[in-house]
Amino acid sequence: MADAMIARGVISREPNQPGVIEEFHIPAPGPQEVRVRILASGVCHTDLSAKNGVFGTDYFPFLLGHEGSAIVESVGEGVTNVAEGDYVILAWRAPCGECRFCQVGKPHLCAASLNAKQKMITHDGIDLTPILGIGTFCTHTLVHCKQCIPIAEGLPPEQMSLIGCGVMTGIGAALYSAGVQPGQSVAVVGCGGVGDSVIMGAKLAGATTIIGVDIDPRKLEWAKGFGATHTVNPKEEDAVARIKEITGGFGVNASFEAVGNTDALNTAIWCRDLAGTCVIIGVADRTKTIEFSVASFFDLGGQLRSSWYGDCLPTRDFPMLAAWYSQGRLDLDAIVTKVITLEEAEEAFHAMERGETLRSVIRL
Ligand SMILES: [Zn+2]
Ligand SMILES: [Zn+2]
Repeated sequence: MADAMIARGVISREPNQPGVIEEFHIPAPGPQEVRVRILASGVCHTDLSAKNGVFGTDYFPFLLGHEGSAIVESVGEGVTNVAEGDYVILAWRAPCGECRFCQVGKPHLCAASLNAKQKMITHDGIDLTPILGIGTFCTHTLVHCKQCIPIAEGLPPEQMSLIGCGVMTGIGAALYSAGVQPGQSVAVVGCGGVGDSVIMGAKLAGATTIIGVDIDPRKLEWAKGFGATHTVNPKEEDAVARIKEITGGFGVNASFEAVGNTDALNTAIWCRDLAGTCVIIGVADRTKTIEFSVASFFDLGGQLRSSWYGDCLPTRDFPMLAAWYSQGRLDLDAIVTKVITLEEAEEAFHAMERGETLRSVIRL
């Protein structure tokens, strides 16, 4: 039976203020809508950016969180892909099937991704903006049914939640955005949760040289654990020169910027071999720019491109990553640095800023 309910979640009312746990109202699921009970939610950098006003001030108040695993609790009219009791990972890309990209067979670029139509509302009557159309730092949330991707029962909710954003983004960037091939060389600039997922993706794709680049020695150690064959610390040496040295003087076939800063991007652009691909994953500050010699860029060839959500298709890729995890091919246990409560979400942002965690995961 579909019914309205009061849930609890971390809500950010204004920029640069701590998120606070509040009660909010979830309407009864309408057509194609689903209410889920959140099991676990990763704390991703995008939540921090939204909270800090990076996406503008128009959308406050935010219901934080967008990386979650959940149980389907109540379904609206016309929902056929999931049923009550299903174990799901929530996706912030749910291709519409009708936009100009979906129509030409490129649903991973969907420009009208599906979200719940109805609004969730604060206890004092204001429309909430769930981050990336989901909102997972909460007991329950309302989503479009196509945002629910069913996975096999019995897999741990903490690890599965990470597939919903960071892990998928990193692995997809390696497999799909760069299309890493067996025997290739790769450099990953920024070895946090997403960068380490790129490293895992490159390893799964059969790359033979995987270079982790970070200014934090602790992160370089973690990177080795995920499959980096070499590490470079730009604080200690010229990163581009060292990457070329490791790759026989040539540079890498594919490079990844997973930090969101311009020094990291410069390293990623110039550490490539001829015709190499540079993939931007990190979201930079709106005010940041880089300059480069167009002729030098032309001479190097290849491409510079962005990767949104690792060019993934959640219906295809979430069950695949869950299977790889259960087969021991994807070390998601090592990404879960800390399991915390909803009350500890705010502190998790600080731990992230201090670089102490790959991922804190809220367990509901
Ligand atoms: Zn579409
Ligand atoms: Zn995210």
